[in-house]
Amino acid sequence: KDKTWQMMLRLRSPGGRIPAQLFLALDELSDRLGDGTLRATTRQAFQMHGIPKADLKEVIGTIVRNLGSTLAACGDINRNVMAPAAPFEKGGYPAARRLADEIADLLSPEAAEGSYLDLWVDGDLSYRFSPPAAVRRARKRQLEPGVFSGSEAEPLYGDTYLPRKFKVAVTVPGDNSVDLLTQDIGLVAFTDPSGDLRGCNVYVGGGMGRTHNKEETFARIADPLGYVDAADVFDLLQAIVALQRDHGDRRIRRHARMKYLLEDRGIAWFRNELKANYFSRPLKGFRNEAKPKLLDYLGWHRQKAGLWFVGLPLLCGRLKGTMKQGLRAIVDTYQLEIRLTANQDLLLCNIGTAQRATIKAELAALGFDLPDAPPPLARHAIACPALPTCGLAITESERILPSVLERLDAQLRRLEIDKSVLIRMTGCPNGCARPYMAELALVGSGVNQYQLWLGGSANLQRLAQPFLQRMPLDELEQTIEPLLISWKQAGGRRSLGDHVEKLGDQAVSELLGAAA
Ligand code: SF4
Repeated sequence: KDKTWQMMLRLRSPGGRIPAQLFLALDELSDRLGDGTLRATTRQAFQMHGIPKADLKEVIGTIVRNLGSTLAACGDINRNVMAPAAPFEKGGYPAARRLADEIADLLSPEAAEGSYLDLWVDGDLSYRFSPPAAVRRARKRQLEPGVFSGSEAEPLYGDTYLPRKFKVAVTVPGDNSVDLLTQDIGLVAFTDPSGDLRGCNVYVGGGMGRTHNKEETFARIADPLGYVDAADVFDLLQAIVALQRDHGDRRIRRHARMKYLLEDRGIAWFRNELKANYFSRPLKGFRNEAKPKLLDYLGWHRQKAGLWFVGLPLLCGRLKGTMKQGLRAIVDTYQLEIRLTANQDLLLCNIGTAQRATIKAELAALGFDLPDAPPPLARHAIACPALPTCGLAITESERILPSVLERLDAQLRRLEIDKSVLIRMTGCPNGCARPYMAELALVGSGVNQYQLWLGGSANLQRLAQPFLQRMPLDELEQTIEPLLISWKQAGGRRSLGDHVEKLGDQAVSELLGAAA
């Protein structure tokens, strides 16, 4: 294939849900017209690489005809809405999934859908999304004056859409599988005992992206905005999007994300502006949340009575070769729904109790030795694609993550440290694998050179800090060895990120400098 005309495409799959029919279609398309692989992204969607431009209509048309879509998965608009991938039928999980689906529909471009269907399925309107009643009502009701864009065709986005991409995630108290604080809007859903949504804690202004050598760009975690009742959630979401639409920076693209608005003007200004011009109802004080954990759902779990799901680790989210063929056969035979996690892993869902033993054996034959796999460092490590598929990549990421993890694993064993570390890696500062939340992150800054970020928390609540700008990858172990030794000597159960935080920047810099 001529590389000049190859494309990447990404799907829209709120909460990472991929019906069996869609997965089988994607698998076939990736083999016949793509590069033979599928990649689960950190936003819970599949990406396909190497699609010849001439085949785009066949690929996207097939996706649409098989219950999928790529509409608004990229662009200056709300992107894929994240939610806990686990298909639990307990607690607030069903309500959180429903809310993510509804937000995806609420924030879909209305006018663009017609052109999208024109382009890819010859205008067949039977493939138009059919938003749930609650979303239809929210779209139809009189928008507050500031929220209406002035365009009847795109009442929320207007003719020029948003200044930049926009990201929303929903979760339940205590479950931080979605990296909530890295989103433009993060919602924690509270439900009543019957599972109905009561309201949400709302966070605003997170974002990971930075630009190489542009210090004015930075990663940021979201601020708490307030609690909103269920009846007002959609209005508040539209109000926040409208505020960013009107106030986000449209002159300097790398300063256009909503996080810069929060950073420059502050959360107090944001609240006042929201109240004055976009959302007249009161925001309430935050409700207490359980302490968040990074949940990954790997291994076998009870979904509900008589049904199970199993979480399979995919390093860097890449499905290929015999594993891909084997999973296709299992999904095809048992017609299993798939859900993708924010950790780039894959859940096989809706497994009947009677099918469990057979599927377990089939997975073991594919190399999924559950529940023992994967090794601790690999369990939560994620990396962006970088070379050879990403045009912005400065250096390697996905392709060398396995060797980096092996090296670090060997070092921890040699030092007799029996604890894991949350590791993330990217090929440039753009931050697609959310590196700035990791306990230890390598961010590409030159060929085989990386910025070293340290000090995020294991449950993704704290930003890491940069300590070295251009560390040659060959010097990784030597550089961090004094820090690892001090971590070991400190004893206790403290994680590496918490140890770095406790030591402080000066002491950590001295330890890293001592290695030079
Ligand atoms: Fe994203 Fe940069 Fe990685 Fe490309 S190299 S996928 S832009 S982080």
